[in-house]
Amino acid sequence: MSFTVKGWCPGALRPMQSGDGLVLRIRAHNGRLEPEQAQAIADLAWTHGNGLMDLTSRANLQLRGLRPAGHAAAIAVLTGIGLVDRDAGAEARRNVVLSPFAALDGPAWHLAQAIAQAMTAPNAPQVPGKFGFSVDTDPPALADTPADIRLRPQGTGWLILPDGGDWALTADNTAQAAARAVALAHWFMQGGVRDGRGRMRDHLRRGPALPAQAIPLPSSPFPKYSCDSAAGPAGAHPPGPGAAPNGWLLGFAFGQITARQLTQAAAIGPLRLTPWRALLIECTARPRIEGAILDPQDPLLRIRACTGAPGCPQALADVRALARRLAPRLATGQDLHVSGCAKGCAHQGAASVTLVATGRDRFDLIRDGGPRDPAILSGLAPDRIPL
Ligand code: SF4
Repeated sequence: MSFTVKGWCPGALRPMQSGDGLVLRIRAHNGRLEPEQAQAIADLAWTHGNGLMDLTSRANLQLRGLRPAGHAAAIAVLTGIGLVDRDAGAEARRNVVLSPFAALDGPAWHLAQAIAQAMTAPNAPQVPGKFGFSVDTDPPALADTPADIRLRPQGTGWLILPDGGDWALTADNTAQAAARAVALAHWFMQGGVRDGRGRMRDHLRRGPALPAQAIPLPSSPFPKYSCDSAAGPAGAHPPGPGAAPNGWLLGFAFGQITARQLTQAAAIGPLRLTPWRALLIECTARPRIEGAILDPQDPLLRIRACTGAPGCPQALADVRALARRLAPRLATGQDLHVSGCAKGCAHQGAASVTLVATGRDRFDLIRDGGPRDPAILSGLAPDRIPL
């Protein structure tokens, strides 16, 4: 099992080299793009990238295949539309996922904004790469979205939850919630970082002394957001495509969106980036985007596949091509993860079937497990894979 784990994520100012060129991640403020911003990004993807973008699990938009010579031009365009931070450090710390269902200018909106502002200030806690926050709505939509510090509405105030903890902090209002969330990040910095890396969950496992205001986690269940889509099962998570409280959710196979699709979406309305390989368009009528998924039963929604070959230098196979071939064979209720190597970038958890490339077009098969669990079948050729 051989792969490289990077302790940081690409940004706009600090893109990452990949097999298909530079990967440049755009962090839209509160995950929302005005139509003009989305169109400018689509133009960048055409002009300086390979025309493909990723919708990431942190609700960001990632340009792929960017030529190094195009980076400066891309930064100039992104600066002009307000999407570039003061420096790469501030950009990395502005790691806040807001529920795509948050009302514009509502309490959750202002809370996410306040945290982002505090985390980009000169006196912000210097959290390691990948450390992030989530700000949810009621009912919760981000229960399965990774975050080190989660904020959820509780009555008229907020609950501030460290990932992996059985305790919480409370806040009476938005300003107090933002201040306490950032204070919790400062608390994490006292012992939570080793060799420049660290996550809240790992820190709590080491049993640090808790903050003075910590209270036991309320036992009330947190119901998950149920999408209003016609065929979506009640309590479906992540929310499936269909009508949403503030627009329409559209799925994209493997979270990949083309410049043409982004242009079509921008022509309809403002966009919310989601952590669910989906885009929310703020519109009332059912939108039509070529190749987007609006059927909640589409098997491609139950398949995760990483970038794979040729985009990733560590990949041993073109996993997305294989995933599309296998999609029609996927049984109802079954989910599939196809990974180009054992690193499992697309999904660390379990799936009904996980396929891990172990050689050129050869796969190990794991049932009800993740990419690092023991395989029950090894060295399978693509046409010999049982689902
Ligand atoms: S899991 Fe996929 S994207 Fe991640 S390193 Fe391996 S091949 Fe590349």
